[in-house]
Order: sequence, then structure tokens, then C-alpha cells
Amino acid sequence: MVAMSTATVSPFRNEPYADFSAPANREAMEKALAQARSCFGREYPLRIGGERISTGDTLVSVNPSSVKEVVGVHHRADAALARRAVESASAAFPAWSRTPAGERVRLLLEAARILRARKMEFDAWLVYEAGKTWPEAEADVSEGIDFCEYYAREMLRLAGPQPVVQLPGERDEMLYIPLGVGVVIPPWNFPLAILAGMTVAALVTGNTVVLKPSSETPTIGAMFGEVLLEAGFPESCITVLTGSGSAVGDVLVQHPKTRFVCFTGSRDVGLRINELAARHQPGQIWIKRVIAEMGGKDPIIVDADADLDNAVQGVLVSAFGYQGQKCSACSRAIVDAKVYDAFVERLASRASAIQVGPCDDPRYYMGPVISESARKTILSYIEIGKSEGRMVAGGAAVPQGGYFIPPTVIADVEPTARIFQEEIFGPVLAVTRARDFEDAIDKANDSEYGLTGAVYSNDPAHLSLARDRFHVGNLYFNRKCTGAMVGAHPFGGFNMSGTDSKAGGPDYLLLFLQAKAVAAKIG
Ligand code: NAP
Repeated sequence: MVAMSTATVSPFRNEPYADFSAPANREAMEKALAQARSCFGREYPLRIGGERISTGDTLVSVNPSSVKEVVGVHHRADAALARRAVESASAAFPAWSRTPAGERVRLLLEAARILRARKMEFDAWLVYEAGKTWPEAEADVSEGIDFCEYYAREMLRLAGPQPVVQLPGERDEMLYIPLGVGVVIPPWNFPLAILAGMTVAALVTGNTVVLKPSSETPTIGAMFGEVLLEAGFPESCITVLTGSGSAVGDVLVQHPKTRFVCFTGSRDVGLRINELAARHQPGQIWIKRVIAEMGGKDPIIVDADADLDNAVQGVLVSAFGYQGQKCSACSRAIVDAKVYDAFVERLASRASAIQVGPCDDPRYYMGPVISESARKTILSYIEIGKSEGRMVAGGAAVPQGGYFIPPTVIADVEPTARIFQEEIFGPVLAVTRARDFEDAIDKANDSEYGLTGAVYSNDPAHLSLARDRFHVGNLYFNRKCTGAMVGAHPFGGFNMSGTDSKAGGPDYLLLFLQAKAVAAKIG
């Protein structure tokens, strides 16, 4: 076999999306949905290294479109099992860290191949467990494949010679080596892409992993764990530990053998992890590294000369795609006063026309929110919003039986309003009037977050101003503020949006590595 190197793999390209208007794809997806449905209610033990453990303390995941349907039943870990998981990962680290990078990359490319072959199967489970529409599920799984393919190539690059200066009489080199045990804690909203991306980044760089999936989407986590085993990753290097974040999270983060934590989720949990990880524990011989990607309150600016139809369309899909449950979702539209009334009128009429319903039915653009507690929180923000502005879309009837909320637009919102400042994580958009473009930039930056943002404008000077002053990790011009693509749009935000890790970019794997400089006297 030819040794794996940057020369032996094709250049990275993004995974194409299936077109569900094609009858063959539609049929394949319907078959995958029926197949997934026939496996509803299956029981999943947790797995520490090679050991399958049924604790009897189970977590039930349901279909948010039809909450009486049980998608999966998962055995939950307790604190003692969480400790065991870190110790087992620590014991496996020496062997895995010495596995040649080319071999780790080969396994990761195999995982990508398996995911691609089972794409519609994963799509179907995302529809049922995460409440994603078909295209949203397809984008999530495609991104998961992209992360595998991209990080495989990145690892080959980092395993090769690094450009250090050669001193006379020396051979100088710099090697990247892994860190140790990584605790990986993903959210539910990209239950495959983010979970897979963080996990494989840690594994391909030679670290061992304890993966704790979100309690909302444990079935996707368990299935991805099986893909890794099928691809040939040793059982000892990846544990899938289902359990509630509040019960096992602190134990995993604080364990002295945990070397780093890779987290994506809410601001409050991220801050807690950062604080706990910073405290030295008895027996701990390193400073833990924390990679934390957190919330957003993402604005789109609409300039006076913008193409209003494009702007309305961009705001609409950014605000209501996946029910506004993306960290990158637009939750604030900041619109120049000259076009404000026309914009609000067109947006309200388009938002009110959106159909909401169960995600296995492809006629609906919007499905449910993830859980009853999310539904309650979002509804309470809508009540707050009604007192902070003018509701111009929302309140429409939605189907029963699932966690449905209609798309809601609140206009005339002041920057001091709670719905302008706080992350709601649902289909609720605040619209605010700006005096002019500079005022719009100031309002966009009036936030503790700084994840994504977009500008609709035809004025090059305004776009240039935004490029300099709009303080977000991912800025888009004349397009939506969601849908970052691996490779093209390295993803991560500023301020309370996190550590700006830039997932899917050339700096990401360095977060999972440390550099060792070796200088040898020659001659
Ligand atoms: P979350 O409530 O913070 O949960 C995220 C993960 O943390 C889950 O696996 C959760 O487990 C776990 N967790 C909870 N308490 C913990 C603790 N004390 N210690 C360790 N882990 C703990 O967030 P979410 O509701 O899943 O996701 C939505 C949030 O993620 C939003 O704020 C969104 O903006 C953010 N997000 C950010 C990005 C980004 O790239 N910046 C991307 C996607 C999502 P349980 O499920 O068991 O509680």
C-alpha cells in the first residue's frame, strides 16, 4: 500500500447535497425514513472502551415532531462511569498517540466513506431525532462528511515537515504531537456535523476521546460511534458516554487526566466548563486547554440601496431555517430607515406564509423546536417581545403533537430590549430601524456575542466599512448568515460566542496538538 501523504489524496471538495426534487432521491429518502422508523425504541448501552454497559438508568429521546414516538432508549452514565471513561481513555493514549498519522488519516477517510454510503440513513435519523427537514438534515450530514475529509487532509499537512529556519551545523525541525485525553461535548443542533467534527479532529491528531453526546440527540451520537468502530478506530480510543451534562459534565471536565475539553453549546455551560477546567486538581500535571464555541445573537444589516427582495429572502432563511436553532441564525435584522417600512411589510408577509409541520413530510419548510423546555422558553420570549415591539408575524395555528412554534417577527425593537440582546434560539426575529449605515454597524456590534453577521448593500464603501468594523467571526456580504462551508468559511466567533476556534479551517487541528522543536547538531 502507498503510504498516505498529501500527494496521495485528492484535493478537498465539499460533499454535494442530494436534490430531493429528483424522484430517485425522494424515493431513497422515504425508504430511509421507513427503515429508521422500524428501529424506533431500540435500546443503546453506553460503551467505555470495548465494554458495553447497561446501567438501567435510561434516557429516552423522542421525535420532536410527534412527541409520543420514542426514537431511542439510552443507558445513562453516572459520575463513577464518567471517571472510568477518562481513565480508560488515558490508558489507551500512549498506543493511539504513537499510531502513525497516515494510519489515523486512513481510518478517518474510511469513516467518511461509510458516512457517505449511509447518508440518507443518517438524514432520516436527523429528521426524527433532531426535528430537521430533509434539506437541513442533508446539509448536516454533508458537513459531517466534509469535516472528516478536510481534517484528514489537514493532518497529513501537519504531519509533514514544518517550515523552521535551519541554523548552520544543525538539523532543525518542529513536530506536532497530540495532547492526551479529550472530553468532547457537542450540542444537539448539529447532532452529526458538530459532534463528528469535534470528535474526529481530536482523534486524527492522536488524542483519545470521551464523547458525551447531547441528551436530546443521543441516537445520532451512538450511531456515529459505531461508524468510527466500523472504520477501524480502536474501541479503546473512543468512548461514547451518554449521560446528562449536569450529572457527568463536571466530573469529565475536572478529572485530572483530562487534558482538554472541546465544547460547543450555550454561553453559560461554556463559561462553567472554562472555569472548572482552569482549577488545578490534585495529581494534574498540565494546564487544561478549553476549546469552547458558544452562542450568538446574529445580525443582518439591510442598507438603503440593498436589493430588498434578496435581503428579505436572506433574512428569512437565516432566521427560520431549522426553526432558528442555529448558532448562526439571524435573530436581529437592522434596517436603514429609508427602506425600513417596505422591508418589514415584505418580510412579514413572507414569514406568515411559511408552513410549519412534521419534518418527515417534505412539504413543510419549518419543523418543531427541539424540546418542551425550549418551546416554553421561546414562547416566553415571544411574550416579552410583544411588550418590546410590534409583532408583525406570528401567533398562527400550528399542528398539535409536536413542539411547533410559528415563525415570529417583532418589529420596532430598541437595542436595549431583551429580545435584541439575549439568545432565544428559536424562530423569533427582532427588527430594528437604523438612522444610517454607521448607526446600523453600531447597533449590530451592540451585543456581548460576535458569531456571524451579514450585510445587504450595493455600496462598496459601506461593505468596506463593515469589513473593518462589524465585529463577528463570520461576516457575509449579500448572502445569508447561516450555512458556513467547511474549507471556505472557517467557523467560530468573538466575545461570548467563544474561543474563535475556526472549525473547518486550517488553524483548527492545531488546537488539538502541541509543537515540539527538535534541534540536532550535525557535522
Ligand atoms: P447546552 O445546553 O450548553 O448543551 C451543550 C452540551 O453541554 C450538551 O451535550 C449538554 O449535555 C452539555 N452540558 C450541559 N451541562 C453541562 C455541564 N455542567 N458540564 C458539561 N457539559 C454540560 O447547549 P445546547 O442547548 O445543546 O445547544 C445550543 C447552544 O449551542 C446555543 O447557545 C447555540 O448558539 C450554541 N451553539 C454554538 C455553536 C458555535 O459554533 N458557536 C454551534 C452550535 C450551537 P446535556 O444535553 O446532557 O445537558
